[in-house]
Parts: sequence; structure tokens; C-alpha cells
Amino acid sequence: MSDTLKNIKLQHHIDLFKKEVWNMYDPKSLKAEEFIDNEEILESLKYADENKSNVEVIDAILEKAKERKGLSHRDASVLLACDIPEKNEEIYALAEQIKKDFYGNRIVLFAPLYLSNYCINGCTYCPYHGKNKTIPRVKLTQEQIKAEVIALQDMGHKRLAIEAGEDPVNNPIEYILESIKTIYSIKHKNGAIRRVNVNIAATTVENYRKLHEAGIGTYILFQETYHKESYEVLHPTGPKHDYAYHTEAMDRAMEGGIDDVGLGVLFGLDKYRYEFAGLLMHAEHLEAVHGVGPHTISVPRLCPADDIDVNDFSNAIDDDIFAKIVACIRIAVPYTGMIVSTRESQKSRERVLHLGISQISGGSRTSVGGYTHEERVDETAQFDVSDTRTLDQVMKWLIDMDYVPSFCTACYREGRTGDRFMALCKAKQIQNCCLPNALMTLKEYLVDYASPETREVGEKLIEKNIPDVTNEKARAVLRDRLVAIENGERDFRF
Ligand code: SAM
Repeated sequence: MSDTLKNIKLQHHIDLFKKEVWNMYDPKSLKAEEFIDNEEILESLKYADENKSNVEVIDAILEKAKERKGLSHRDASVLLACDIPEKNEEIYALAEQIKKDFYGNRIVLFAPLYLSNYCINGCTYCPYHGKNKTIPRVKLTQEQIKAEVIALQDMGHKRLAIEAGEDPVNNPIEYILESIKTIYSIKHKNGAIRRVNVNIAATTVENYRKLHEAGIGTYILFQETYHKESYEVLHPTGPKHDYAYHTEAMDRAMEGGIDDVGLGVLFGLDKYRYEFAGLLMHAEHLEAVHGVGPHTISVPRLCPADDIDVNDFSNAIDDDIFAKIVACIRIAVPYTGMIVSTRESQKSRERVLHLGISQISGGSRTSVGGYTHEERVDETAQFDVSDTRTLDQVMKWLIDMDYVPSFCTACYREGRTGDRFMALCKAKQIQNCCLPNALMTLKEYLVDYASPETREVGEKLIEKNIPDVTNEKARAVLRDRLVAIENGERDFRF
């Protein structure tokens, strides 16, 4: 064994000793400041700096990563810091291979639906902050939600992420629950919203239980930043100021019965390497405490918006670092889906799709009422969208690149959430389950909503992908169902 490897092993023993004897860092702790331990992050970043040019250490980490069981935040931080060009090429190639192995060539599509921009928080980077007097405040009525959902169904969407500011008077939990009920109830033509993910402020176990009972898919909450001091400065007023309450939200969500949770940081607020380590520590914490890691990780970057000047934030990351972050997350948590939104341009999305992204939004409006009121797009948008293409353009773009766009919601509707979803991934049944589901939902899109150009390339893509369903019986059932969809039947799933 080389000296370097001996040192790695020794370092791990020292870490274990520190944890066990001095109780320094405990991923199982339920206290935010302990499972996101500042010292542990700083130590990890120091370790990464010391080893960023160390070929032996990087090779050893890459070997471990090839087992596809993920990496610790410390090892992943070394890969993120790695400054050896050939090793970085290996990192990208491995991320791409892991993406292919776990997710194939499918990309799941969703759209955000903004319900209300009333907000009592003071987030300095968000135009919805309570002190912004220039942005018109809008809260959709149930009738308006219905109109928005019909517009989204007519585009072809099946999966939404609902968004709202935090305002207990204007947007109480009852409003959110009623809105979810409305959304699920609308069946317009062949349309249906089959999965509603929810991105609302941190709340109580009781409210999470209500969201769970309302049949939500993933509960998404971005940490914004894991750096406590920065967090408090960036959120000077309102309930969101409480770092611990915000950071411990996913534990309360899981206690309330939600087992698909989505993490994310807003890159640009603090130093990206700190955020990256914090994000992975959060994932390790969820796995350690609840036995299941995050269902998704989002990688938003700060965008220009009303009353927000991105130049006031000095930690912006460029496209190269963004791509490296995506690749290193893919390697560190192979079973976790990764989301990129229309905050990113077509070019930037194109670059990261093959490095690990599994879900994207398309045809999005980030304004309240933006799907039915074009003028609202500029007035009430949360941030400026970079990718402004229609859903059909996004579909054709994906198909042209040989990706299978998917509107599948089967896992969640079959109860394959949390660890049951992970089991499916681990059993490598994705090819016989997720691929046919993706192809069937693509077929629905092509028949019901696609432009003639998209339909033409989409049909060819389906034919090309059928042989990749390896199980003969599943392949035969798939063929029958594709014919049934052509003849008007809908909503099949494996
Ligand atoms: N009110 C909820 C909360 O506090 O988590 C929902 C959040 S908001 C509707 C969704 C996310 O948009 C935020 O968590 C934040 O990360 C992101 N966001 C806010 N301002 C942004 C900006 N200027 N550029 C990009 N993303 C932004």
C-alpha cells in the first residue's frame, strides 16, 4: 500500500475517533448546527485543498466512486477542487456514465406554478421580499388556478411544482391545500396533473402531514445557503430568518410522512465549495436519520429580478464551475434525481444534461398567473427566465439530442417513494419500468399536444428505444399500450 493510501486510511480513522470520542460531528444529530457542522465543512475544504493536485488520492476516490455507492462530502469536495485537467476529464466521464446507468436517456419534465407572491420575509435576493413596493402582489383564486392548470395541461404538462411566498395571512396552509385539491381535480380534454410537488416555506410537522395527506409528490425547500452567518444576513427579517427552523424542515417533513424531499442551494449567495459540502452533509444526514436520502437536488443559480441586482452578490459561479458541481453531485449521490430549471439558458442546460440532470422545467412562467396573462410575465416574475422556449420546442430539442422526454409520474402513484424508489434503482429495473413509462407518456404527448415536427421525430425516437426494454414481456405490453394510446386510451403505467 502506498504512503498516500495509508494516509487516507489514517485520516479516516482520525475522523472516526473525533466523531466517536469528541462527538465533534454527528450526521445523526437533529440539530442543524450539528449535522451541518461548520468546523466539519471547513476541515473538508482544507482536506480538499491539500489534495486537489494529489493524483493518488484522487485516483483512490475515483475508484471508490466507480462502485456507484456514492461518496462522502469530504471525498466529493476533493473531486470538486481537483485541478488536474486529465482527472477532471475522468470526473466528467464517470458522471456521464453514472447518469446513463441510473437514468438512461430519460429526462423528466415539469413546470412551476406560482400561486401567490405575497411574502413577509426579507430575503435580500428575492423580489418577493416584503419591502419590495414595486412588484404587484397577486394571489390566484381557485378559478384562476383552474385557468392556469388548463393552460398547463394544454401545453402537455403532467407534473407541477407549486410555489408561493410565505405569508400566514394571505397564503395559509389551507389555501395551499385547497389549491392542490383544485389542481388534481381538473381533467381538461385528455389532460391531467398527476403529480404536484410543493415548494413552500418551512412549516410544522402537522402542516407537512396535511400536505402528505393531500397527495403531494416531493416537498422541495432550497436551503439558499448552508453558511449560518450569511444565511442570517441574507434573511434579515421574517420567519425565514431562523436558520435552524429552516434547515431542520426536511426532518419535520419526513416526520409528517413525506418521504420524497428535494434539497437545493441558491448558488451565488455564498462560496460554492462550502455550499456543496453542506448540501452533501444534509443528504448524508437524511440518509443517516431516516434511512433515505433526498429524492432530488436542485442547482439554481441566482438570476436578475425586479429590485434585485445580481452585482450585489459577489459569489456568482461561472458555467465551468456549474458543470463541475453537477458532475460531482452526480457522482456523490447516484440515486438522487437532479433538477435544472429555466433559470439556465438553453446552452447551459445542454451542457449539464448529460452530466447528471434528470429533470428540467419547460415552457415555464415564474410569474403569478403567467400562463394565462402574458403581461404578468414581466410584472410579477420571481426571476428572469433564461430559457424562454415553449414546451414543444424544449421537447423537440431533447428528442433531437436523443433524450427521451418523460412525463412519467408512475413511481409516486404506485407508492414507490422514498426507499422503495431507491430499491427500484438499485435493482436496475429502470430499463424495464421507467423507460416504458417514459415512452408511453411521450406517446401521449405526441398524440395530444405535439407540433407535426415534434411528432415526427418523437415517433422515430419511440421506435428506436423500444428494443432497449430488455424484458420481452414488458416490451410486448409496451407495444400494445402504445397502440392503445394512439386509439385514445390514457394513463397506463408499469
Ligand atoms: N417561499 C418559499 C421558500 O421560502 O422557500 C418558496 C421559495 S421561492 C418561490 C423558490 C426559490 O426561488 C427560492 O427558494 C429561491 O432559492 C429562489 N429564488 C429567489 N430569488 C431568486 C433569484 N433572484 N434568482 C434565482 N432564484 C431565486
